[in-house]
Amino acid sequence: KRRFPNEPEYHQAVEEVLSTIEEAYNQHPEFEKNNLIERLCIPDRVFSFRVTWMDDKGSIHTNMGYRVQHNNAIGPYKGGIRFHSSVNLSILKFLAFEQTFKNSLTTLPMGGGKGGSDFNPKGKSNAEIMRFCQAFVLELWRHIGPQTDVPAGDIGVGGREVSYMYGMYKKLARENTGTFTGKGLEFGGSLIRPEATGYGNVYFLLEMLKTRNIDIKGKVVAVSGSGNVAQYTVEKLIELGAKVVTMSDSNGYIYDADGIDSEKLAYIMELKNLYRGRIKEYADHYGCKFVEGGRPWSEKCDIAMPSATQNELNGDDAKTLIANGCFAISEGANMPSTPEAVEEFLAAKVLYAPGKAANAGGVSVSGLEMTQNSMKLSWSREEVDEKLKSIMNSIHTQCVQYGTEADGTVNYVKGANVAGFMKVAKAMMAQGIL
Ligand code: NDP
Repeated sequence: KRRFPNEPEYHQAVEEVLSTIEEAYNQHPEFEKNNLIERLCIPDRVFSFRVTWMDDKGSIHTNMGYRVQHNNAIGPYKGGIRFHSSVNLSILKFLAFEQTFKNSLTTLPMGGGKGGSDFNPKGKSNAEIMRFCQAFVLELWRHIGPQTDVPAGDIGVGGREVSYMYGMYKKLARENTGTFTGKGLEFGGSLIRPEATGYGNVYFLLEMLKTRNIDIKGKVVAVSGSGNVAQYTVEKLIELGAKVVTMSDSNGYIYDADGIDSEKLAYIMELKNLYRGRIKEYADHYGCKFVEGGRPWSEKCDIAMPSATQNELNGDDAKTLIANGCFAISEGANMPSTPEAVEEFLAAKVLYAPGKAANAGGVSVSGLEMTQNSMKLSWSREEVDEKLKSIMNSIHTQCVQYGTEADGTVNYVKGANVAGFMKVAKAMMAQGIL
């Protein structure tokens, strides 16, 4: 905190990890001797740069661009790019820190990184998005590469943006080895990558439910967000017979008591991905409730899947969810629950999966995209989906291994943090003082 003042999100993420790994850490005096905690809490390096771009009217704008290369002990830096007006170093450092442990859990050889810009993509034309992506990569390209740092998408960065960035990267770097993941299918993208985070979260949830013999069929689910992660979470939930009653965006949430079915989800996907519209239009179209500026956690549900952004579910929301009978929370977003909310979930012994474990499906399939690019071939949808399922199962197994408490319940926060940390720590130890 002394070294990095004014970085509340970063402190929050670090404190969460450190508070759960103490016991495991103390069993390895060599970690302390090698000052591993301090070395892990300071990113390897951080790049920050100006991005200058021109809008459709000819006006010139500037934004800040960043890339945080947090840790590469187990593989090249890997993590998404976020475009959102709230982006700052505290947020990107928290995301890169989380990414290091998440990537460690995936079983694939990937280190942790994250990048982005305070550029606000809302209301921008396609041409403006393209020019911004090109300007961003004009600086970023010299810091990334297939063996060093492989970016992907995140909030505000989907297939369109990744493809524009990759196009510019290739022109500058004069190589075609797939330095971004989440690319279009025609030029090295992987099948199931768009679906991976949402599907992976549901696969993780199924594993958790299995531990208590609960069937997902007919369960009422509250989902937040309506972007990439939320859309494919809902798609998989519908396929499995669950009833999704909420979705949201930064303007508010919709509550559909009849449940969002496939046809309604197709409407949302078109609204969000094609027209870049607001979720409120769903309520107008289908005549259901819209709560302006609200978040869906006061609605009665069995399962909650926060899939929008960090700190979108606080201690009071957690209390309300539990009081309303919610017994499982699986995080699609990164750190959507505040520390107070996490405390409530752990105290109530509900099934609670932190994003680090539950949303690792996205980066896992990104890792599989890297493998396919290296081998210069493409796997089928079924092959990738099977691999995704098996990775999510393995992450669940690691959480159970490191997080089972004396009373037999699983603390998934502790399990994910300890499992993720041990692998990175051992790799750092083996590679010497760097
Ligand atoms: P998208 O940009 O596709 O969607 C983000 C959604 O969250 C939108 O509905 C957006 O609403 C809403 N949102 C964003 N910021 C806020 C905010 N401050 N308050 C309320 N709502 C907000 O992003 P993704 O779906 O890709 O990402 C969602 C979350 O999942 C993030 O936490 C991301 O880090 C995490 N994640 C994503 C992965 C991926 O593969 N894409 C992988 C792992 C984690 P609006 O349109 O109004 O901004």
